[in-house]
Amino acid sequence: MRYLLIFLLFCLSFKKDEAPKIDIELKPYVKEFLREAEHWRIPTDHYACIKKIAFVDEIPRHEKDSIVGQYDPVDEVIYIKNAYKDPRYVRLVVFHELGHAVFNLNHVKSKLSIMNPYLKYEFIEVYYNEWDYLVQDMYLDALRLENYRRLNENK
Ligand SMILES: [Zn+2]
Repeated sequence: MRYLLIFLLFCLSFKKDEAPKIDIELKPYVKEFLREAEHWRIPTDHYACIKKIAFVDEIPRHEKDSIVGQYDPVDEVIYIKNAYKDPRYVRLVVFHELGHAVFNLNHVKSKLSIMNPYLKYEFIEVYYNEWDYLVQDMYLDALRLENYRRLNENK
């Protein structure tokens, strides 16, 4: 945890006011994510640390076919697998990876969530129908995490 914080501060001190390079088809979803964060008033400082958000044919260093997106915290890149043309699914995966990268959220296994570890494409109708609720749930989690972090900071 401490290591991560130092890493974060290091990144923030050098990357201020820079924006990541984003594939053009992914931009609307990234914008939507940031707009929503603004609405919930959740800081997105770490967004400036991300260098790239890009489609790839294969997720690097991963053999599992089931992986459809990845946030690499060392290189500060987000990869989205190019195999799915369904914009509802691409949006879901982008939100998931930005949830890791920007809000430091972990996976959620106990309920339907944007942060479910395996976002199976066969469930896309369910994710899509529940989208507004799922977005709200994810941002509330991010807000709680942020408030908890602030409480610890002020000790
Ligand atoms: Zn994940």
